[in-house]
Amino acid sequence: MGRHLDPVCKLCRREGIKLYLKGARCDSPKCAIERRNVAPGMHGYRRGKPSEYGLRLREKQKLKRFYGIFERQFRRYFELASRSPENTGEVLLVIMERRLDNIVHRLGFAPNRAGARQLVSHGHVQVNGHLARIPSMLLKAGDRITIKNRPRTVQLVKLNLQESPPPVPDYLERADGEPPEGRLTRLPTRGDVDPRIQEIREQLIIEFCAR
Ligand code: SF4
Repeated sequence: MGRHLDPVCKLCRREGIKLYLKGARCDSPKCAIERRNVAPGMHGYRRGKPSEYGLRLREKQKLKRFYGIFERQFRRYFELASRSPENTGEVLLVIMERRLDNIVHRLGFAPNRAGARQLVSHGHVQVNGHLARIPSMLLKAGDRITIKNRPRTVQLVKLNLQESPPPVPDYLERADGEPPEGRLTRLPTRGDVDPRIQEIREQLIIEFCAR
């Protein structure tokens, strides 16, 4: 079974947690983690107790993979969070949550963050009436996100909303009109971070990055 494991699901197996990278499949019994939570490869069963370093590294990797970002960008976010007078770990999570691709996903316009990134980079999303093609764009309170009014795009987004409409988080509001749109009513806080990654221990990540 391991040989045929989906490469995306392998990331979840490696981290030992569900990263929710494949939309509706992640909540079904077909999820590779539900079927067998063992790291991929022939040594999967032999995973021992991680070192202090390993523990912190794993936590950082979990966060990066959950939001689908690369190391360079992650380091930039860490720098940004470090400059804030507030709690660095919390600010780091809030930055992730403010990314345009994350907001598009959390509004239910795409089944996962990879789909949301594609929607954005292919020019199907507008922010405050202007085309926004950069998935990493950080949104602020009051920003309005609109799906471009093209019949096929609107149809696709509406299908996503019908199939798996996620509960809209408190800091967002969604109008299911034509085209669908959403708005950030305020900036997210630590408590608004996606419930599926709420248990992340950001303090370990900060300790790892501050070495
Ligand atoms: Fe695959 Fe989603 Fe399950 Fe991860 S959570 S193993 S991406 S189905």
